[in-house]
Amino acid sequence: MRRPETVEGADLAPLSTFRLPATADRLIILDQLEQLPQLPRDNDSLLVLGGGSNTVFTADWPGTVLLNRLRGIEAEPADNGAVRVRAAAGENWHQLVRWCLKRELYGIENLILIPGSVGAAPIQNIGAYGGELAAVLESVSAWDRQNGALIEIPAAECGLAYRDSRFKSSERGRFLITAVSLKLQRQFQPALGYQSLVDHLGARAISTPTPRQLAAAVMRLRRHRLPDPARLANAGSFFKNPVLGASTAAAMLAEHPCLPHWRLSDGSVKLAAGWMIDRQGWRGRRVGDAGVYQNHALVLVNHGRASAGQLGELIDRITASVAGEFGVCLEVEPNLIGFE
Ligand SMILES: Cc1cc2nc3c(=O)[nH]c(=O)nc-3n(C[C@H](O)[C@H](O)[C@H](O)COP(=O)(O)OP(=O)(O)OC[C@H]3O[C@@H](n4cnc5c(N)ncnc54)[C@H](O)[C@@H]3O)c2cc1C
Repeated sequence: MRRPETVEGADLAPLSTFRLPATADRLIILDQLEQLPQLPRDNDSLLVLGGGSNTVFTADWPGTVLLNRLRGIEAEPADNGAVRVRAAAGENWHQLVRWCLKRELYGIENLILIPGSVGAAPIQNIGAYGGELAAVLESVSAWDRQNGALIEIPAAECGLAYRDSRFKSSERGRFLITAVSLKLQRQFQPALGYQSLVDHLGARAISTPTPRQLAAAVMRLRRHRLPDPARLANAGSFFKNPVLGASTAAAMLAEHPCLPHWRLSDGSVKLAAGWMIDRQGWRGRRVGDAGVYQNHALVLVNHGRASAGQLGELIDRITASVAGEFGVCLEVEPNLIGFE
């Protein structure tokens, strides 16, 4: 077995799509399962990184960053005609969706073009355009740093919720996800619960899309609304859409009838944070090189040389202005490493 490649004093800016300046004491590149027992134990400060598209470094990391580069995708028959796809955590998520589409395996096409790694997908239960990982996740394989063992965690025990999981909240840092298993279907059933997707297809006279038409529509919408991190540093949606109880939401909607919202199965209501930020006039504004994306108020960007201080000030000013007008406390979506 090869020892994992190690870099001392590593530059983290190119490893995070928001690209704030930061370093780590040490970077370890993991590409074999056999290297797992050599990793620092639970009480050492280890941060796992995939594509860095949901991680914003606001300070140097005083410990080890582990870059997950485990590879491999395989498919096998599952019960009731379904197909189990097992993908290693270091695979690219978008490439996995394309791999599945090519083999006519369906269930994740609405999640196409989400940046990042397969291993990070369960961390915040990725979702977009009416699709969510929770709908297809069967289980997660993970290295339990507490017990030094490789275990299988069924989806029902992952605590998946809206942009959340036990890996992101209650047991943050304990598990290193090494692979995920998805249950996909051979029969295509388009998920058309998202109005702007339906409208976009409708404008092309498509009411029952093929898998490729659906995936292409999602990609067009995403490219139109979101900046490409390769050209403009960003971490996607910077704030979660707040979820309110039915009666609080009803009062809010009576006051702001144009506020886009989605009713959830438990009766609560998810409100569009981007609309609230936009209404407060934030689109295109900046604090130094930290700014709000011109085409989408939910996305914060780094115009080049943003500092953690500028980003912090921008976050504080946006959240204060939304709280002042709407009485809603916005929650940051990406993992801010360094800020309290
Ligand atoms: C332009 C853009 C668009 C986006 N659109 C969406 C979207 O539509 N929907 C959505 O849900 N998200 C979206 N995101 C956020 C991001 O793409 C997802 O959260 C993605 O899953 C992050 O993957 P990553 O590998 O880059 O994660 P990283 O940033 O590397 O890591 C994210 C978190 O997961 C942890 N982690 C990563 N890998 C592992 C592992 N193997 N084991 C344990 N912990 C791990 C990290 O420690 C960190 O806390 C977007 C981001 C960008 C930049």
